[in-house]
Amino acid sequence: MDLNDHIREIPDFPKPGILFRDITPLLSHPEALRYTVDLLAEQVADLKPDYIAGIESRGFIFGVPLACRMGLGFAPVRKPGKLPAATYSAEYVLEYGTDRLELHQDAFPSGSRVLIVDDLIATGGTAAAAVELVKKTGSEIAGFGFIIELTGLAGRNNLPDLPIVSLLQY
Ligand code: AMP
Repeated sequence: MDLNDHIREIPDFPKPGILFRDITPLLSHPEALRYTVDLLAEQVADLKPDYIAGIESRGFIFGVPLACRMGLGFAPVRKPGKLPAATYSAEYVLEYGTDRLELHQDAFPSGSRVLIVDDLIATGGTAAAAVELVKKTGSEIAGFGFIIELTGLAGRNNLPDLPIVSLLQY
């Protein structure tokens, strides 16, 4: 199974100059979807996470089935104003704009090992904000799981020196 066959490239989305990596063909293909979750679960197993933190919104799509597959709980890292209880907040810079992320203060028991999951790492700004949030909860980062890594943007350099798993590199 070559997952590359299930990623579509859309030029100039959401703005000129961005080559958008569209995961919807992968999501619509039953075997590719299952294979993606199984492969990610296999590759992050050694990191021994206690919880998955998925980043809104495509980190939810992969983070929840990954958590189910690994027998773990899940916490959503969300855009501002979506989480109902007390939150921590962190600002970040995107490949195309700036934004803010929030996480429930009681998302994990203190000292948990948390795996941060998103569909794609570009500059690493989004994942770095998730790191800040997980640390604020008193938990540690077990590592990172991405479906796609845009290696030219060197997003890894914006993250702490911890294991990073990515299934596809462009
Ligand atoms: P970054 O903070 O630069 O690592 O950007 C990562 C976030 O932006 C992820 O949530 C991605 O879903 C999204 N993203 C950034 N660049 C792209 C791209 N070229 N194609 C698809 N999604 C992207």
